[in-house]
Amino acid sequence: MNNKINVADYGNRLRASIGKGVKANLGFRMALGVASAIPVAFATLAAEAAEVQIIPSSPKLGDTISVIVTPDNPGNGGNLQVTSKGKTYPVFPIAPNQYRAFIPTTPLEKHGRKVIRVSGDGETRNLAVWVNNRKFPTQRITLPGKKGGLKLTQHERDRVREFKALVSPQKYWNGSFRRPNNSRISTIYGVRRYYNGVFAQNYYHRGVDYAGGFGSPVVAPAAGRVALVGKESQGFVVHGNVVGIDHGQGVTSIFMHLNRIDVKEGDMVEPGQLIGGIGSTGASTGPHLHWGVYVNGQAVDPVPWRFNEIE
Ligand SMILES: [Zn+2]
Repeated sequence: MNNKINVADYGNRLRASIGKGVKANLGFRMALGVASAIPVAFATLAAEAAEVQIIPSSPKLGDTISVIVTPDNPGNGGNLQVTSKGKTYPVFPIAPNQYRAFIPTTPLEKHGRKVIRVSGDGETRNLAVWVNNRKFPTQRITLPGKKGGLKLTQHERDRVREFKALVSPQKYWNGSFRRPNNSRISTIYGVRRYYNGVFAQNYYHRGVDYAGGFGSPVVAPAAGRVALVGKESQGFVVHGNVVGIDHGQGVTSIFMHLNRIDVKEGDMVEPGQLIGGIGSTGASTGPHLHWGVYVNGQAVDPVPWRFNEIE
């Protein structure tokens, strides 16, 4: 008698899971457990179950992939691990009994099949997602002589590297990011370059440029903590006057070439709050804002963060 009730319950649970748009169910062994020693087996196997959702379901290069895990058993998310191509990505709780890892993609990687491994409590699942190709525009740059441009100073390199590596457990942002400046976009994310006719393998435009004039207001696109303020006078010769905002959980924003900075390190900023003015400091040939969004250290396309409400 009891068996029948439990089997029916299991079926309902499965249907409920599928109804939520589930991509994978880690609890597949439950089906085998139902036939024998119901009460014990059910409890044990349910503890290993989890739903995994991947958003967007059809990403393209530059997108931020969200891996959302909902363990069937609350309290089972503590030891979740999300890895892809040998890298482990930090997992944070985002709702009661729901966890998320962000996997950044960039123009430097190959499009195609990407395997994401989710494991916890002795259960491991490999999920495959197809990352679509994307045509990025190219620019041809002619530099006089062998070398051109400015080189990062050691101080600048260290500070910026440290900033991009920030992974704070708090989630400061809420909903869609807003545009950091009102002027038109002059260069989109992902543009590739040829220097003197040679394709630059490791270069891609790591952000979005806004063509505002000198002093045009730059605002925080989302809430966060100001974790980097660098001045050209202190050796930020490439970035120029620069502000970095930590949005939390491995998401950061950087604002370069400013002529004015209106915040200091440690400040908490709200979306829309003034942080500085457009300039042409550092490696810049005219006034513009460069806004970069980094996810777990990689420069992703900021555009989905503006329009796809990544919660
Ligand atoms: Zn730029």
